[in-house]
Amino acid sequence: MSAQEQLDELKVLHLDATRQPWEEGDRDTFAEGYIYGGNGEHVATAEWINNTALIVAAVNALPGHVAAIEAVLNIHSAVDAVQYLGARQIPRKVCAGCGSDDGNWMAWPCPTVRAITEAL
Ligand SMILES: [Zn+2]
Repeated sequence: MSAQEQLDELKVLHLDATRQPWEEGDRDTFAEGYIYGGNGEHVATAEWINNTALIVAAVNALPGHVAAIEAVLNIHSAVDAVQYLGARQIPRKVCAGCGSDDGNWMAWPCPTVRAITEAL
């Protein structure tokens, strides 16, 4: 699955979930944590209270993180270029967002795109 397909899947899952932002509820005596949706409805019960904050933070942060990754990937998109080697012309994909210190284009995928796609 490509990076963009993973991001698209996360966006659909987020949109289909209970309205955000989610909030942590009160603790109970059994160390369970309650999670409430954007309309105050009970969404889930985490079996361990320490998981509640993580679940709430992850759900609420997801749209921003996906948008940030997409913004970086959009800047570092592939564009067509032609490399001239004497009389030869070699078509290449280069990064629209990167260049090198000597003024040449950066081959695509550039280090930024590789870092993101390898992490996903
Ligand atoms: Zn780049």
